[in-house]
Amino acid sequence: MHCEGRLFKLEIELVPEPLWGRSLYHYLSREEWRSLRDFVAREEGEKCYICGSTNGKLELHEFWKYDDENHVQELAGVHLICELCHMIKHIGYWCYTENGQMSLRRRGLSREDLIKHFCRVNNCSVEEFERHEKESLEKWMERSKHRDWRQDLGRYKSWMRNHINTVTWTKRDPIGDRDMRFQKF
Ligand SMILES: [Zn+2]
Ligand SMILES: [Zn+2]
Repeated sequence: MHCEGRLFKLEIELVPEPLWGRSLYHYLSREEWRSLRDFVAREEGEKCYICGSTNGKLELHEFWKYDDENHVQELAGVHLICELCHMIKHIGYWCYTENGQMSLRRRGLSREDLIKHFCRVNNCSVEEFERHEKESLEKWMERSKHRDWRQDLGRYKSWMRNHINTVTWTKRDPIGDRDMRFQKF
């Protein structure tokens, strides 16, 4: 996975389609999610984990690792990141779905703003962004072909103590769930 292109500080992370709607964000209640946010903020401070920005709204993002041989998705970390870094993470939603494009415009932002942020944080060219985006989309397509991914919440499992029934819940087909379709792309 590290042989293609260079490694960026800020990378696109597209969640494979079969795993949409399967995340701590969806498993936890809003209240639990907020207390996870407070916990992370206390541990790491109110700043973007990636670019260090303290401006604007900071949002929790789940950083996943993929074992492409055994098809395991592992939750490697949950960190606060700024709005622009977060949009890069889920650029599939913001730039490749109608809802995302509309919401982006509503926030007064454009795809160019996202690219500019990516290039500034990574100190790279637009061509490098384009190559990275293309590779990410290809990887996403490849991973989405595999239907049964196993999920490992790692050290965040303890946040699931009130959700014994979540296992059955996660087995629901995310494709049939319209609301969730584009949540984490
Ligand atoms: Zn940032
Ligand atoms: Zn996220």
